[in-house]
Amino acid sequence: MQELSHWIDGKRVAGTSGRFADVYNPATGEVQARVPLASKAEMGDAVARAAKAQLGWGATNPQKRARVMMEAVRLINRDMDKLAEKLSSEHGKTFPDARGDVQRGLEVIEFCIGAPHLLKGEFTDSAGPGIDMYSMRQPLGVVAGITPFNFPAMIPLWKMGPALAAGNAMILKPSERDPSVPLMLAKIFQEAGLPDGVLQVVNGDKDAVDAILDSPVIQAVGFVGSTPIAHYIYTRAAETGKRAQCFGGAKNHMIIMPDADMDQAADALVGAGFGAAGERCMAISVAVPVGEGTAEALRERLVPKIEALKVGPWTAGDDVDYGPVVTAAAKENILRLIESGVEQGAELVVDGRGFTLQGYENGFFVGPHFFDHVTPDMDIYRTEIFGPVLSMVRAASYEEAIGLAMDHEYGNGTAIFTRDGDAARDFANRINIGMVGVNVPIPVPLAYHTFGGWKKSGFGDLNQHGPDAFRFYTRTKTVTARWPSGIKQGAAFNFKAMD
Ligand code: NAD
Repeated sequence: MQELSHWIDGKRVAGTSGRFADVYNPATGEVQARVPLASKAEMGDAVARAAKAQLGWGATNPQKRARVMMEAVRLINRDMDKLAEKLSSEHGKTFPDARGDVQRGLEVIEFCIGAPHLLKGEFTDSAGPGIDMYSMRQPLGVVAGITPFNFPAMIPLWKMGPALAAGNAMILKPSERDPSVPLMLAKIFQEAGLPDGVLQVVNGDKDAVDAILDSPVIQAVGFVGSTPIAHYIYTRAAETGKRAQCFGGAKNHMIIMPDADMDQAADALVGAGFGAAGERCMAISVAVPVGEGTAEALRERLVPKIEALKVGPWTAGDDVDYGPVVTAAAKENILRLIESGVEQGAELVVDGRGFTLQGYENGFFVGPHFFDHVTPDMDIYRTEIFGPVLSMVRAASYEEAIGLAMDHEYGNGTAIFTRDGDAARDFANRINIGMVGVNVPIPVPLAYHTFGGWKKSGFGDLNQHGPDAFRFYTRTKTVTARWPSGIKQGAAFNFKAMD
């Protein structure tokens, strides 16, 4: 069986803790590799080496750093299929979706080629008599990125790009479920010209994360994962005086107004609800039709589309709509929540519980599920299921629909489907959620805007990528400078009377 490693000072380094985690092929249920779980000492060593490497990298001019980003873009494009294949094999998502995962990360590296512009700082000429004032954006030093399993290329690249382009060294602690792609990306950055030690990939679990939080050297932590861990990391990071941005889970509502194009809304719901087996923080998991007529029209269109979904391994290419979920434990959790939905009185209209796939009986596949008549007190409504399960909550009015989304504890993404500009505008203005789609089901902002949720979907300020990322990974120093005047005349050779 393949034994994975860490990536320290530009080399694959075997783990020494003696602890490992299994990495599965979710389509077959087989263990395909094991990944070392770093000890506190291993993390400390990687951090110390990163701190040394950062001195030179931070002093490298921003344009040269940007050229590393430019070359990384070329190399990631070159290796796109290799990265996507490995990603699919460890995560389970379809091959086209895996390419999308790499692509949306790559776009942030493209954005980082413009880092020198964002790092320029500010200058006021003659802020007072003979006084100039200027602000510099300086790197923080060593920073950490802790990332989830569901986007093993995109989210590490969101962390690495801005942190490195700004002159920091980064400790990346990827998910132990699918750690190979981050290791491949580290090698690509080395080939692109990143000096050894500036990017260290340290694999691990809670021990490695706690070592990051306890490190006096690490200045900032960028986290993405589930809400309880996001909250834990945010509070622990604050205790040790680190800057932290911690993005958590989600329960994204899509509101369907009576005037919406129902065919378009149904297609959008199926793609956004079931793509990547629902394992996306921007997946739509709750459909909220406004009015009984809308609910019936939507249900009529949704059911055949959901029943027709093709579930299978990534090796089936375009013939599959979504693949397995990531682990047996994830599958169990999803099925447990589905049972709770039935017990608590929701109507299970499409029941995927009996789903099996010939030849892949041990894979972590979950058939598609669609619940109607879900109410806000049910566990399937309150909890993030992170699986191929769509719930429909019927609302009598627009106010009730917007109220549901606003009252939910999560606030990552949401969407409204309507032809009414006034309703769309009102929704976008009032909703207390970070990313809003108008007739767009998964409103993931592009690299030059910023990504971040509200409420329990995000702790700390400043979003991911876009200009915010450069604010997060730099600190501002402001200099007030006055130079004595009169020295321009040069030396005086005659006695001068004092005046
Ligand atoms: P997770 O919270 O289990 O793991 C995320 C990271 O935290 C991993 O690197 C993991 O090793 C580490 N971790 C796990 N348990 C820990 C513990 N007890 N102490 C310290 N560290 C720990 O999340 P996941 O299952 O990998 O990812 C899915 C979750 O991520 C979902 O909730 C999803 O909504 C969320 N997510 C959010 C966003 C966003 O931008 N808001 C994006 C993607 C995923």
